[in-house]
Amino acid sequence: METEVQKYRGRFAPSPTGPLHFGSLVAAVGSFLDAKSHHGEWLVRIEDIDPPRVVAGAAEGILRTLEDLALHWDGEVMYQSSRGEAYREALEQLQRQGALYPCNCSRREIADSALASSSSHVYPGYCRNGMRAGRDRHALRIRTDDVLVEFHDRLQGHRSQALALETGDFVLRRADGFHAYQLAVVVDDAAQGISHVVRGADILDSTPRQIYLQRLLGLATPSYLHLPVAVNIQGEKLSKQTLAPAVDAGAPLPSLFKVLEFLGQDPPRELLQGDLASFWSWAIAHWTVARIPARRTNHAN
Ligand code: GLU
Repeated sequence: METEVQKYRGRFAPSPTGPLHFGSLVAAVGSFLDAKSHHGEWLVRIEDIDPPRVVAGAAEGILRTLEDLALHWDGEVMYQSSRGEAYREALEQLQRQGALYPCNCSRREIADSALASSSSHVYPGYCRNGMRAGRDRHALRIRTDDVLVEFHDRLQGHRSQALALETGDFVLRRADGFHAYQLAVVVDDAAQGISHVVRGADILDSTPRQIYLQRLLGLATPSYLHLPVAVNIQGEKLSKQTLAPAVDAGAPLPSLFKVLEFLGQDPPRELLQGDLASFWSWAIAHWTVARIPARRTNHAN
């Protein structure tokens, strides 16, 4: 029996590795429209958890572009760089449950292993029963054992993953001391009270690991919707690496219009002659998940 109606709270969680480009704009617009069409809140979190990848000024640039596009967020922006204490507490909780173990394998040792040849991401569990002598620097891994995680994605449908076979015991704290994305995203989605996650399908295969962590930490699992990822003619994800151009914040309507087309929303061309306010009111009123191509990638024209 439903006792209370859960309030919709969504989020956009960019990594500040460069300016907002078409690929990241798809996630921003999709999460915003889904939240607003549910009369929900839309939060922004800057995922600056990996200092070597952070580009100076990129977070400010992304936030300024969101403002210029009238993608107004609710509440304060959360920065993962200020969340170390919460991540440490979560690790301690998992440590107490006996779910973690230290691992001092080098990349080469993992790459040379038999399991790695069948799937380069599966860790074969060398350090489960103790680390090899002689190397102090170590990561913290979580045991996966026989866990089968199943979930329903609002767009991609039923998904399941046998963690031990498909990812192996994964890293929650890296040997360089930084916390891993999988841990941070779970702790922060819970701290921000996120009820609905809408993001790119490049993260679809990470979701079972996140659900596994939520269960161990006693946190609620949000509803998930993974949007198709924008790829170029070569099938490569649009990103800084593939030189995707930054969104032109001075003339945003053509880019926003293209995002709606990409997401199958069939926008009328008159929107291009209007202003941002009329664009958003049409887009929120007409947002239809059933029209989004239910694929993991889609070509951006
Ligand atoms: N920070 C990730 C990215 O920019 C998104 C993570 C998420 O939405 O869970 O690709």
